[in-house]
Amino acid sequence: MDQKERRAVQGPPPTVCSLCGKPFGFWDTVQNFAVDDYIGYGSQYDLCRIRLHLCCRCLDRVLDWLVPQCVNNPMEEFDESDGEEESEREDG
Ligand SMILES: [Zn+2]
Repeated sequence: MDQKERRAVQGPPPTVCSLCGKPFGFWDTVQNFAVDDYIGYGSQYDLCRIRLHLCCRCLDRVLDWLVPQCVNNPMEEFDESDGEEESEREDG
């Protein structure tokens, strides 16, 4: 079986975590955290492209390190009522 046939049978190769190298499992795939962007001028990484995939465990590790260092907390808890409250709210 050549490479092309094998891929057709097995599907595309799994996403692999950039940090720990683990192939994505079920929850990693559900989460599917990725940063895929080109870096413009003004950084020492000018004109590089970043393709970062993190498994759930590594995402937690990175956020545990990053978030406490942020002046403005970038984290927001998901709120299912977001958006509905304002449009349906009646002042009274
Ligand atoms: Zn990982």
